[in-house]
Amino acid sequence: MKVTEHITKANGKPLFSFEILPPLKGQNIQSIFDSIDPLIEFNPPFIDVTYHREEYEYKERENGLLQKKIVKKRPGTVGICAGIQNRYNVDAIPHILCGGFTKEDTENLLIDLDFLGINNVVALRGDAVKSETYFKPEKEGHTYASELVTQISNLNKGIYLDEDLQNSTKTDFCIGVAGYPEKHMEAPSLDSDIHFVKQKIKNGADYIITQMFFDNQKFFDFVAKCRTAGITVPIIPGLKPLATVKQLNLIPHRFKVDLPDELIKEVVRAKNNEAVSQIGTEWCVSQSKQLIEAGIPVLHYYSMGKANNIRAIAKQVF
Ligand SMILES: Cc1cc2nc3c(=O)[nH]c(=O)nc-3n(C[C@H](O)[C@H](O)[C@H](O)COP(=O)(O)OP(=O)(O)OC[C@H]3O[C@@H](n4cnc5c(N)ncnc54)[C@H](O)[C@@H]3O)c2cc1C
Repeated sequence: MKVTEHITKANGKPLFSFEILPPLKGQNIQSIFDSIDPLIEFNPPFIDVTYHREEYEYKERENGLLQKKIVKKRPGTVGICAGIQNRYNVDAIPHILCGGFTKEDTENLLIDLDFLGINNVVALRGDAVKSETYFKPEKEGHTYASELVTQISNLNKGIYLDEDLQNSTKTDFCIGVAGYPEKHMEAPSLDSDIHFVKQKIKNGADYIITQMFFDNQKFFDFVAKCRTAGITVPIIPGLKPLATVKQLNLIPHRFKVDLPDELIKEVVRAKNNEAVSQIGTEWCVSQSKQLIEAGIPVLHYYSMGKANNIRAIAKQVF
């Protein structure tokens, strides 16, 4: 079932969903199931699986020259989605990227997903590869997520890249896209960023799922701005419980989001990571309860493959 259908069917009952990431290459799918099993009792209607593009590594050769090696550290997104649907009968949502894909690669990926009975995707641009500052599209690829959304919408209309194809099958993908309550790191302003989020909706996206935030007011303001801009689709909040002291700097650095002073003070006072995890969990529970009170239909948790704190939150909220 599509995410939008799950929301309609829930009829106002708040839904619990979460995101996982594929294991590092060499590990097996059981590690994924082990991180999902403890959360299944909270009836997630869907589970997102992130996509990780290739990275460049440079190895020094004997002659002192550097050799560039392309590595994909976390492959397996599509296989994991099929595994989840098969094992739990829960909709699995692969994230798909512009980065590293030509339009042809994307079309073939979408055909595979359709054949596997996966009819939800989250369409994203992806970040620049780690060793580069700016995102570079493939020569025959997309520059922005809005273009990827158009390609998926076209396939839903039976429009494939090869214009000569006759009577082609129409896919039926429900398309999610990213939104950033504190704006995307490259956007010159929040208004400019929302303008381009609207473009993704115009091109056929069905809902927005947000970057993590730790201050609900930022989410409420973002939703209000989106509504004023004429965006009417569901906006699903993304939540992450803080779990370690290190994340106090890591999260703002990596995701360009602020942490509230009150939360920072509590974390700094904590004696160890166990205490930080407790604080992060309580903070996230309180965020979740407030969002539910405000009538938000789905809460989406960034589990990063660690079920313990998400389970503790779900137990208190759902
Ligand atoms: C919910 C969520 C899930 C994610 N999952 C993954 C994942 O699985 N794998 C992964 O690698 N990354 C993931 N990301 C990170 C994401 O790929 C990065 O944040 C990326 O830098 C931007 O992706 P986007 O889809 O938001 O890009 P876009 O919507 O294309 O926007 C990128 C930037 O370009 C601007 N822009 C958009 N269109 C135009 C235009 N026409 N002209 C000028 N500027 C424009 C926007 O304002 C923004 O600043 C996720 C992010 C979120 C919020």
